[in-house]
Order: sequence, then structure tokens, then C-alpha cells
Amino acid sequence: MRRRLAQVLGLSVGAWLAGLAGSAPALAFETELLQNSGPGANRVNIFILGDGYRAEDQTLLRNRAIALANDFWVHASFAAFRPFFNVKLIKTISADDGAVNGNNPPAQPTIFQSLFNCSGIDRLLCIGDTARLDQVLQTDAPEYNPAFDIVLVTVNDTKYGGAGSAQYGTTSAHPGASSIAVHEIGHSFADLADEYEDVNPPSTVEFTSPNATIFSQRSQVKWNVWISASTPVPTPELSGFENSVGVFEGAVYSSVGHFRPWENCLMRVLGVTYCPVCGEALVWSVYDKTDPIEAHVPAAASLTLALGASQSFSFTGPKPVPNTQNVTWFRDGVQFASGVTSVNVTGTQLGVGTHTVQVRTQDQTTLVRRDPNLLLRSQFSWTVTVPTGGGGRGGGGGTAGTGGRGGAGGRGGAGGTAGVGGRGGSGGTAGVGGRGGTGGRGGSGGTAGAGGRGGLAGAGGAGGAGGGNAPCTSLCTSPTIFSSQNFQSGNLGTAATCHQTVANLTGANCGNFAAGRVFRINDVVTTCNGGNVLLPPKRNGGYCFQATAGDFPWAYFVTF
Ligand SMILES: [Zn+2]
Repeated sequence: MRRRLAQVLGLSVGAWLAGLAGSAPALAFETELLQNSGPGANRVNIFILGDGYRAEDQTLLRNRAIALANDFWVHASFAAFRPFFNVKLIKTISADDGAVNGNNPPAQPTIFQSLFNCSGIDRLLCIGDTARLDQVLQTDAPEYNPAFDIVLVTVNDTKYGGAGSAQYGTTSAHPGASSIAVHEIGHSFADLADEYEDVNPPSTVEFTSPNATIFSQRSQVKWNVWISASTPVPTPELSGFENSVGVFEGAVYSSVGHFRPWENCLMRVLGVTYCPVCGEALVWSVYDKTDPIEAHVPAAASLTLALGASQSFSFTGPKPVPNTQNVTWFRDGVQFASGVTSVNVTGTQLGVGTHTVQVRTQDQTTLVRRDPNLLLRSQFSWTVTVPTGGGGRGGGGGTAGTGGRGGAGGRGGAGGTAGVGGRGGSGGTAGVGGRGGTGGRGGSGGTAGAGGRGGLAGAGGAGGAGGGNAPCTSLCTSPTIFSSQNFQSGNLGTAATCHQTVANLTGANCGNFAAGRVFRINDVVTTCNGGNVLLPPKRNGGYCFQATAGDFPWAYFVTF
């Protein structure tokens, strides 16, 4: 899902060669970054081009482009994520001004030959020469990627009009016309549906767009996390709910059987802003097209760290305003820092062996309440090898792997090699039966043993011997067992649930829990706001996730 630089370069070089083959008209124009937030390969690039602007109209074009870009930042989702966008003006020059509007067409063709009354609709303003537009983009915007970026053509004609397609939007120089462009970008950028009505019969198939549904029962409506309990569903129009998310009938070209989330959103009428449900989808799309971990130090994913040395780890990338990104750092799956973009790790902290240092970001913006595809999360892991410093090693730890007696084996790790200790981990799988956690700990005992500190880790194994009960024993009955470190519960529905694992989880995350619905990990009550939560200590060798019943239909937890 992330933008790939090679893909961008491949596109531009190919197009450049194609351009050389023909006797092309002028394609190279001066460009100006009106907003430069960072490398174009990891930004949503808004390209603004002019049609019907002569050489002497370039100041006008620049002013209109600035005004057009500013019409984006008044909308909450674009404002908060403005650092994720670049804005580039391509100062295209036309031989004449204006557009073909039926009354006063330019005497000479403009560069893109824009025309009103497109498809017989007076205000519809279309690009006449889209091939030329593509060529100009390929020449002057090598970072352009049609799958990620936004192209807007401002047409130098004051007649009211505009249009949009999957590739680009147009807007005239009429003062109210930019609202058309912002509406159209809602379609192309975030797959938003039109929320306005027409006379078509209603669909019997649910819409894929996030802001339209054929369902009118609260439990079935995909955006119900946004609907307060006091709002009636379906929601009557003109009854005081114009500033509330609800389920209003009339959307997607039908006045019956189709429902929208807001009485008058920008996807329904012009001159207003996006509703919260549409705004949420815009944020999803920003994170789908960019990565908040843009660059990291060390750049390589694998490195060696001497036992007595220290290494700095850091990352940079775009951040929303205000910064709602939660940053957490993990050593071998155990969180050790948060809220910082740089940490130091020493070889002594890791110990001899192969380890993982991971950074994770999770945006907790209130503009998003549901994130089923986990788009607001990013992570990067380094593999760090700490070579032996001549510490003690020996044999015999291998017996750690044998089931319930793994604890004793862990002690054996005092003399054990790392490899044998690792096998102890297979005891962890057996632990679903209740005693494997012990074996798992024996495994780490073996690893530490290679560093000459096996005695310490072995003690951990001994602790596990106290097990024999599963993580959920005495907390709930018949838990759903999962064994993967990467687990997603899916929709927990409305009933009480209980999930159990002895996997070595590195984190947990839960969301969409309604008031009155409680989420616990190992009987520790946890706040579920869609973000990362701290795992409590293991219980009986693992974790027990419990959720009480509530009235909320789409709640989940994930681990990783
Ligand atoms: Zn909307």
C-alpha cells in the first residue's frame, strides 16, 4: 500500500522516453513548490496546472493556485494532515485566455482546451486534451503517481463550473467553484460516494464507499461508532440533527432506501465541509498513501552491536498537527520507551545473541474512530546481533524443552548453549495445554546461557514451573485459543468474549468499545481507544483477553 519510489521513477522515465519520440509541443514549464513538506515519494502531491493563462497571466495563475490550495486546508482532515501533502504549481502557458463556453471561446486553443457544457451539462467543465495534460505532468512532475496524487486544473474563465474524474479535477475562476474541486477530490482521493439524491431506484447491494449504506438499523450501519445513543436511527431531516452523525435517508442518486451519515455534507451540497464520516475516510487515505516512518537510522535493517557498545535508533517522517501519533519502542517485544523518536540501546541490555529493536507509531487522532484495516499504524524492526564476548557456555540445557518440567530445564540453561535453549520454545506450543509457558521460559534461559548468564534466565524457567493452569483459568470458561503472535479478533460482536494465548505477544491494541463494555487483559482493565495498550505481566504463562457484553456491534482487539 505504501508508495514505492522505483514505481514512481519507472513511470516518469518511460514517459520521458515516449515524449522524446515525437515532435512534442512545449511541455516543459517552470514549476514552484507552493508547499514543500518533504520528499514527494512519501507525500500526497497536489499538482495545480492552469488552462487559459497566457504568459502575462502567470501572476494571476499563481494567486489562484494558492487560493485553491488554501480551500483544502479549511477542512479538518486536510488541515490536521497538511504536513503529509506537497503542493506544486506547474506554470503552464496558453496562447489565449478563457475556456470554450459557447459564448466567448478563445481565438486560439488553450493548452488543455478546456470546455464548458461537457456532456450537455452547462456547468460541467472538462479537459479537452487530456493526453497533453498527461504529457505535461510526466515532464514537469516526475514524482507524479496517478494512484496517490491529486491533479487540479484551474481554468481561467469566470463562468461557474468544474468537474472531477478518477485522475483529476477542474475548477473555473468563479469564486465559488473551488468547492466543486474539493468535493470531487472526495471521490478520487477517498472513494467517497455522492450523498445527494436523484430519482433512481434504490440498490439492493451494500455500497463499498464509507459514507453510504442501504441499511437503516443502527447495528448494521458501518459508521454507527459515530452515532450517539440519543440520535434516532433512521434520523429525520430538519429536526435538529443537522450537526449530528445519523442515518439520513436519501443518498447516491436515490431518495429512498439509501442512507447517508450527515444531513448536509460536502458530498451532498457545495459550500460546506466534509462530515465526520467522510473526514475519517480522508485520514485513512492519507495513511494509505504515506508512511509516518519515512526514514530511519540505522538505515539498514540488520546490524551488529558489540556487547560493550551503545547504538542510537531513530526515525523521521510526517506528523499531523497537532501531533496525535503515539510512538512506542520495543526490545525483543518488550516495550521500553514511548513518546520519543530516538532511543539508545546497549549491547549489555540486549545480551549476546540475535535481538529485535522495533519502533511503532499509532495515530490516535479523534478524526478516526474505526480503523478496520489498521492504516493508522506503522512499524519498523531492526535485527541486532550482539556477538559473544567470550562468556561462558556449556551443554545440557536441552532438556528444557520437555513440557512441564521446562522450569528445571531452564536452570539447566546455566550451562546450556543458545541453540538448545531455543528449542525449549517448542515447549511453549505445548503450553496451550497449560504447562508450555514453562518450556518457553526455559528457552530464553538457554539463550542467555550463551552469554554466560544462564543462571539468571534459568531462574525464570523455575518460575514457570509454578504453572499448570491456563492463562484464563478462573477468569472465564471456554476461551477461544489463538497461537499466533499476530492475531486479529475481528468483530467481537455484542456478547462477552474471552481469548487465550501463550504466544509471546509484543503488543496489544483494541478499539470501538462502547461505554459500559470493559476490556481486560489478565484481569487488568484496559482503556480501548483504538491505540496501543500495555500488556500486563503474563498470567499462568500467557494472556487472557476478556470483553464484557455491550451494545456496541463492532469492537476488536489485535496483537502483534
Ligand atoms: Zn459525508
